[in-house]
Amino acid sequence: MGSWDCYCAICGGPFCTLSVAQKPRSQRFFRRHGLSQPQSSSSAHANQSTEDDRGDATAETGNNGAADAASIEKITAEDELEDGSYDPDVISSRKTAWLEDLHILMKGEDEETGEEVGCVSGVGRYYDSAQVDVDKGDDPNFDPQAEIVAYDGSFPFHWPCFEILGTVLEGKAGINGLNKLKLYTTMRAAHPMFASRLNKLDYGNPGPACDQWWFSEAGKEFVVIHPTATLKKTTALIRDRWMKCTQVVSPSDRLRRAGADIFQRLPLELLAKTCNMLTPESLFQLALASPTIDALVEDKPFWKQYLPIHMPWSFELLSLFDDESQTFFHNVDYKSLVRWVDQETTPRLWMRGPFMSIANRRRIWHVCEQMEPVYSGRLRRFPLSEEERRRSELMMARMGLPPRQLQNS
Ligand SMILES: [Zn+2]
Repeated sequence: MGSWDCYCAICGGPFCTLSVAQKPRSQRFFRRHGLSQPQSSSSAHANQSTEDDRGDATAETGNNGAADAASIEKITAEDELEDGSYDPDVISSRKTAWLEDLHILMKGEDEETGEEVGCVSGVGRYYDSAQVDVDKGDDPNFDPQAEIVAYDGSFPFHWPCFEILGTVLEGKAGINGLNKLKLYTTMRAAHPMFASRLNKLDYGNPGPACDQWWFSEAGKEFVVIHPTATLKKTTALIRDRWMKCTQVVSPSDRLRRAGADIFQRLPLELLAKTCNMLTPESLFQLALASPTIDALVEDKPFWKQYLPIHMPWSFELLSLFDDESQTFFHNVDYKSLVRWVDQETTPRLWMRGPFMSIANRRRIWHVCEQMEPVYSGRLRRFPLSEEERRRSELMMARMGLPPRQLQNS
């Protein structure tokens, strides 16, 4: 059967040692991918260089013309090496080391009652072909003698990903509030036979591939960055932006402009409820069209309601909005601040800098959210994937049967 890699059930990332290039990217690499050369700073990332993070410059700006011209060049072995490794100016081997530690979720017996429970192993390593070796850890229900085969009755994961999952599923209680048996049942429902990750889940686009072996894909460094290790640094960056983000239009001007706005007739509570249903992008668009909405989104209490609903993964922003000492700064342009954080942390190819960490957290958060309906019992099973739906329809057609309504719950 050969060998293969298994991936984290939560982030879809690997457990192996990753390939980070020994030397900086060549001129040819940037040309082939239509990228501009890294700059010493950008509007987004200025003021954030540190002694241990050389990845603050940006090379995200594409140039399709150059890429098209370069694509006719013959791909050399050197090119393949660069394409199959991470950029040392974006991420170091030290910063990918967290991925090698795994834990296992599996079924066990309560050591006192003998009842079926879920349990979590101590830290361990992945070897090959679904084989892992783990310590006992401190879960009394974990049996160190149990046979472990990844994705055959047990699910491997990284601990930082597990902590995010705990927050998504159990809020402030986090991993302490998790029902591990329910989580085990949820993960079992999210993968077919012979899986190497939970195939029913969408791990993001761009996100990790699910090939036989992990491929360290150039431009996807954010997928393998630790999702919470740089909280202090990213909070400081956003706080710095907060202090500089002041409103150009005064509050009195906003009220005057709002006079002719149809939304002004609606009660404030209804306005806020309506806005809370919109995605950040739709909300910013509406604020452009309506002075009343524009005034509302410069209101700090509004964001304290909105952010936990739409940007719950932005721990930094949430903590700053809860920090009363931040009120020292007047006339803060909250709308611009939130929009800036939203844009800077959107997962995308070729991203660099400390906000990669939030982007990966944001991606992982969305994976965790997909488990919630089944974990909570709102759905009995996961929706069919596009591929499963197509396969099912094809089978029905081959059997000469009419298409039927495919149940998702
Ligand atoms: Zn993970």
